[in-house]
Amino acid sequence: QASGSGYEARTRLSEGAFSAARRSLPTGVSRQTLVYRPYPLFAERGQAQYLWDVDGNRYLDLVNNYTSLIHGHAYPPSVEAAVAQLHAGGALGAPTRLELEFAELLRHRFPVVERLRFALSGTEAVMYALRVARAHTGRQRVLKFEGGFHGGHDEVQYNIAHPPMAAGTFRAGEPNSAGLLDLPTLVAVYNDVESVEAAFAAHGEEIAAVIAEPFLGNAGLVAAAPDFLNRVKEIAHAHGALFVLDEIQSMRLTEGGAQRIHQVTPDIVTLGKIMGGGLPLAAFGGASHLMDALDGFAPEVPQTGTFNAFSASLAAGLATMQAFDRDAVARLNREGERLRAGVRRVFRDRDIPVTVNGQGSMFNVIVSDAPVTTYREWRQAPTELWSAVRMRLLAAGMYITARGTGCLSTAMSGYDVDTFLEALADAVAGAKR
Ligand code: PLP
Repeated sequence: QASGSGYEARTRLSEGAFSAARRSLPTGVSRQTLVYRPYPLFAERGQAQYLWDVDGNRYLDLVNNYTSLIHGHAYPPSVEAAVAQLHAGGALGAPTRLELEFAELLRHRFPVVERLRFALSGTEAVMYALRVARAHTGRQRVLKFEGGFHGGHDEVQYNIAHPPMAAGTFRAGEPNSAGLLDLPTLVAVYNDVESVEAAFAAHGEEIAAVIAEPFLGNAGLVAAAPDFLNRVKEIAHAHGALFVLDEIQSMRLTEGGAQRIHQVTPDIVTLGKIMGGGLPLAAFGGASHLMDALDGFAPEVPQTGTFNAFSASLAAGLATMQAFDRDAVARLNREGERLRAGVRRVFRDRDIPVTVNGQGSMFNVIVSDAPVTTYREWRQAPTELWSAVRMRLLAAGMYITARGTGCLSTAMSGYDVDTFLEALADAVAGAKR
């Protein structure tokens, strides 16, 4: 797919860095999402809506570190706050008043959060949220959804493989990795209430929690059907289980996350990505009586983590979240809507069937003639044409993911959206030629 796109001619230094990196890092990277053919771009720096690679090429960055940058790269108020905090000591080995200030901001925006704890990554926040649920219920099993992504720990590594997968290869409950602990995780079908009922009918007494995202953020951006999340919560509660809503990615949809859109109040919510203002930071929280599990000198669930609530992350994150207000959300999401409509138009103009999923500032372009409404459909969606289009987009200075996902940041203007749509039209024309 790279051939003819101009990608290789522009990225010689990335190619060299990749060859050298492979000697010390498996596939030359530190996270699987960054692996693509012929080799990934190696980044040099980022500023606002732009990313520069090691060859000096500038890209409009629609990746935004996998949705975690809401104001683009190096957002000045966050950088200044983080640097000031680093000068005052980064990890102080004592609780700070910044934690309190940030906790109050989150409590205000997410009414479900009566108390919370900070963590370093979304993975850890989810791991602790589920542990709290097991401690509270005295049960072992977790129910997740096909295509639901909740980080890297063992309990949630089921049915999260990426396309292209040949038709007929799908296996319910399939693990995504070797070496996992033998855990009793259950997997239901997203947007399929009956599959949730069936799991509870069979194992209701063993399930500690159901964990769901408001959309399948890493699997086609399939959105929860209206009332699906509330139905899942009702079923969980009817069987004495908790409902954990993973808003690590979806908290960019509104100042109060997707729970405002779906009018759903989970028992525990997990937060992350944008809240660190570009630095690593996450949190989990909920009703006070649930968070009691972490309370005291000998809590049921002791939390550890040398760099938890890292003060520079808190400082950067506070500055970022303060600027992520209702007006910023409205403008950002309006541009997102315009972009999705524009992408559909580009493909329609060439009579190419396309599915453009997404909400708010997020989109996923799937070049497929069948709609993608489930993880199983997404897994089997063809990827060839998108890969060819994407290599041309990279060569044209548009940074976008191999799976066709992207998002906007508040650093982008309407002009940036138009520039992307023009580049997309050219890329589609070139790839179809
Ligand atoms: N949960 C969701 C919904 C996510 O999108 C992610 C990251 O992509 C995670 C959890 C894991 O977060 P982290 O990568 O910070 O460990």
